[in-house]
Amino acid sequence: QQKALIIGAGVAGIAAAIRLAVKGYAVEVFESNSYAGGKLSEFEQAGYRFDAGPSLFTMPQYVDELFTLAGKDPEQYFSYKKLDVVCHYFYPDGTHLKAYADPDKFAEEVNIQTGESINNIQNYYRNSNRIYDITNHVFLEQSLHRLKTYLSKQTVKSILRLFQIDAFRTMHQANQSFYQDKRLVQFYDRYATYNGSNPYRAPATLNVIPHLEQHFGAYFPDGGMYSITDSLVKLAQDLGVQFHYGQPVEEIVVKGGRAEGLKVKGTLHSADIVVSNMDVWFTYRKLLKNHPRLFPENILKQERSSSALIFYWGVKQQFPQLDLHNIFFSAVYEAEFNAIWKEKTIYHDPTVYLNISSKFKADDAPEGCENWFTMINVPANTGQDWDQLITEARQNIIRKLSAQLGQDIAPLIVNESILDPRSIESKTSSYQGSLYGNSSNSQFAAFLRHANRSSNVSNLYFCGGSVHPGGGIPLALLSAKIVSDWVK
Ligand code: FAD
Repeated sequence: QQKALIIGAGVAGIAAAIRLAVKGYAVEVFESNSYAGGKLSEFEQAGYRFDAGPSLFTMPQYVDELFTLAGKDPEQYFSYKKLDVVCHYFYPDGTHLKAYADPDKFAEEVNIQTGESINNIQNYYRNSNRIYDITNHVFLEQSLHRLKTYLSKQTVKSILRLFQIDAFRTMHQANQSFYQDKRLVQFYDRYATYNGSNPYRAPATLNVIPHLEQHFGAYFPDGGMYSITDSLVKLAQDLGVQFHYGQPVEEIVVKGGRAEGLKVKGTLHSADIVVSNMDVWFTYRKLLKNHPRLFPENILKQERSSSALIFYWGVKQQFPQLDLHNIFFSAVYEAEFNAIWKEKTIYHDPTVYLNISSKFKADDAPEGCENWFTMINVPANTGQDWDQLITEARQNIIRKLSAQLGQDIAPLIVNESILDPRSIESKTSSYQGSLYGNSSNSQFAAFLRHANRSSNVSNLYFCGGSVHPGGGIPLALLSAKIVSDWVK
C-alpha cells in the first residue's frame, strides 16, 4: 500500500486525507496543535462555547460529497439547516436590512428599505450568475496549472467568454454602475471581505460572490461550525487515517526531485506522496528552507489578504433584535479600507460583524445569555503596535454597538478572549495572520496562487486556503479535491 503523509489537520488537510484514503492510500496526518481544524476549531470559556474562526457556512455540498465518496450517509455524521435570513445589516443612518435567502423576498426587502427597483436587483444577480457560469469551471474546480484543464470543451467555451467576467474594473466601480444608493453599493462591496480583499481594488469578477450566497444559500451546522471539523475527522478515522497531534513537521526531506518523507521531532517518516496543508509561504520558508532555489518568489511576495481582530464575549443578556449573523456598517467605507490597506491600521469606525451561535444552538451560552463573536477586518501583521490598536478598537466597537443597540453593552460582558493577527499567525502558521492566503486585489490574483502540485518535487502537493483555488472553507475543500484528482 502506498503511503501519503499530510502536514496539517486544517479542513483541507482532513479532506485530502479522506480523499486519499478512499483512493487506497495509507494516510497519516501530522498536526502541530493538540487539536484538529486549524482555523476551524472551537473553545469553551466559562460556560460559553465559541467557534474560533469561520462562522458563515456556504456550499455544504462540498462537505457532504466527502461522506458520499466514502460510501457513507452524510446525515449519520453531520447535519445543518438552511438560513431563512442570511444576515442582518444595520447602517449608521438607522436602516435595518434583512438579507432573506429567498431572492424574491430579498428584492422586495431592498425595495422597501431603499426604494431600489426590483428589476435592477434581479439584473444585478443575473450578472453575478453569469460570472459564476463562466468562472466556476475554469477557476475553481480544476487546476489552472495542468494542461488537461485547457483541453476540455467546457474550458475552451469558458475561455472564449472571459471578456464577460468584468475583470478590468473594480468591484466598487461595478457596484456603483448598478446602484445609486450608497447603502447598496456598501452592501455589495462588502463581499470583497469574504476573501480578505479590498473592493476598491479587487476586480469586479468577485461580484460572483453574491450569487454564490444567494443561489446556494447559507447554512448553520447543527453542532456549530466545529462540527464540520469533528465529523470529517471521524470519517477520516473510520477510513483508517491516523492523526498525530502535537507533532509539528520540521522538514520536508527532498532528494533528487522527490520528497522522501517528513522529519518530525528528528525522526524521518517515509512517504510515497506528501501533501502540505500548511500555509504555502511557511511550507517553503520553514520546511523547505534547505532548498531556496525551489522558492517561487513571485508567488511568495504577493500581497497577503487581510486579517481579523475578534473579541469573544460572554454576554449576560439576550438581544431579540439580533440574529446569527449581524453586520454594523461603518459610515465611510472607503476610509475604512484605506486605513486597512494603505495605512495598515485599524479604522476608528470599523464595520463590526457580530456572530451569535447561541441563537441557533442554545447550549452555546448559559440561559438568558449569548456568546458574541465580535469581529472586525484588520490589516495583516507587519509589526504594528497591536496592543495599543486593540485597546482603542475595543472601545470603538463597544461605543458603536452600544449606540446601535440603545444600551451600554460594556457592563454585560462577563468574560472575554481575543484573537488578533499575531495569534492567528502563531496558532495556524498563517503568514502575517492572513485569513485567506494572498489577497485577490488584482486581476491576476487567480494565476498568482500557488498550484496544488509542486513543479520541482514530483510527489509534493499543496492544499488549503493559501493555494489554488483560494481561501474559505468551500475553496479549501476544493483544493483537496484537485490534489486527489492529480494523484494517481
Ligand atoms: P488552516 O485552518 O490554516 O489549517 C492549517 C493547519 O496546519 C493548522 O492546524 C496548523 O496547526 C497546521 N500546521 C501548520 N504548520 C504545520 C507544521 N509544520 N506541522 C504540522 N502541522 C502544521 N471561511 C469561511 O468559509 N467562512 C467564514 O466565515 C470564515 N471566517 C473566518 C474567520 C476567521 C477569524 C478566520 C481565521 C478564518 C475564516 N475563514 C472563513 C477562512 C477559513 O477558516 C479558512 O480558509 C480555512 O479554514 C482554511 O483551512 P486550511 O485547511 O487551509 O488551513
